[in-house]
Amino acid sequence: IRIQDILDKVQSVRPDADLAMLQRAYIFSASHHSGQVRLSGEPYLSHPLEVAYILADLRMDDATIAAGLLHDTLEDTKATREELTSMFGAAVTGIVEGVSKISQIHFESKEEAQAENIRKMIMAMAEDIRVLVVKLADRVHNMRTLQFQKPHKQMLIAQETMDIYVPLANRLGLHRIKLELEDLSFMYLKPDIYSQLTDWLERNHSSDQAYIEKVADELQKMLSDNKIKGEIRGRLKHKYSIYRKLIAQGLSVDQVHDVIAFRILVDKVKHCYAVLGLAHAQWR
Ligand code: MN
Repeated sequence: IRIQDILDKVQSVRPDADLAMLQRAYIFSASHHSGQVRLSGEPYLSHPLEVAYILADLRMDDATIAAGLLHDTLEDTKATREELTSMFGAAVTGIVEGVSKISQIHFESKEEAQAENIRKMIMAMAEDIRVLVVKLADRVHNMRTLQFQKPHKQMLIAQETMDIYVPLANRLGLHRIKLELEDLSFMYLKPDIYSQLTDWLERNHSSDQAYIEKVADELQKMLSDNKIKGEIRGRLKHKYSIYRKLIAQGLSVDQVHDVIAFRILVDKVKHCYAVLGLAHAQWR
C-alpha cells in the first residue's frame, strides 16, 4: 500500500476530503518511523499505511485516517503530543493518544468475566469511538502479519484478539473486521482443525463460487420479475462460523451442509417479507 492508494480511495468516496492534511500526516509518520523495521523485515511505515488503508476502506473521516497514519508515533517515536496538536489539531491527537493508552493495557487473564471487564474498560477509555476503530484496524494488520511473531506470542495475541477484539468489533457493527479477526485467530488457536476444515472446503466446495453466482443471478431475476429493488450478496461462510456450528451441533466436518449464505438487501420492510416468501417458493 502506498499513500497514493489511500488518497485515491478517500477521494473516490469523499471528493471534499482534506488530502493535504493526510499527505502531511504521511510525511510526519514517514520521517519519525524512518529507520525502524517490522518483524517481517519491511520498513515500519508499511504498518501505519496498511492501517490507514483499512480505515479508508471503512469510509472513516479524515481525522481517523490521519490518526491511522500517526497511531504509533507517540508510543514508538520521538514525536510529542504538542507537535501532533500543532500540526494536526486536537481531534487527531486525541485519537492517537487514545490508541496509545489502550496499547498499554496488559491482558493476562483468560477468564470470561475478566475479558468482559477488559472490554468495558476499553470502551470507557475510548471516549471517542474513533479510537476503537483505529485500534481494531491496527489489530487487523497485526493479525495479518502474525506469522512473523514467535509461536508463544502468536498464541497470546490470537487469544486476546478472540476474547477482546472480536466481541468489540461485533459490538460496533464492524462485521467484516469481526469475521477476519475471528478466522485469523482461529487459524492460530486451533491449527489442526483449521487446516482440516480448509482441506475439506477445498475438496468439496471449490466449485461453489460458480454456484453462488448462478443462484445470485436467479435471485436477481426473481427480484426484477417482481419489480423489487435489491442488492444480492452470496458468499461461502467463514471458517470459524462453520467450526462453531460443528461444535454446537456435535457434527463432524462432512456432516455440514450449509456452507453458503446469501443476503438480500431491500429498501422496504414489506419487500423483505415478500422476497423471503418468493425465495421459499422457489427453494423448498
Ligand atoms: Mn500499530
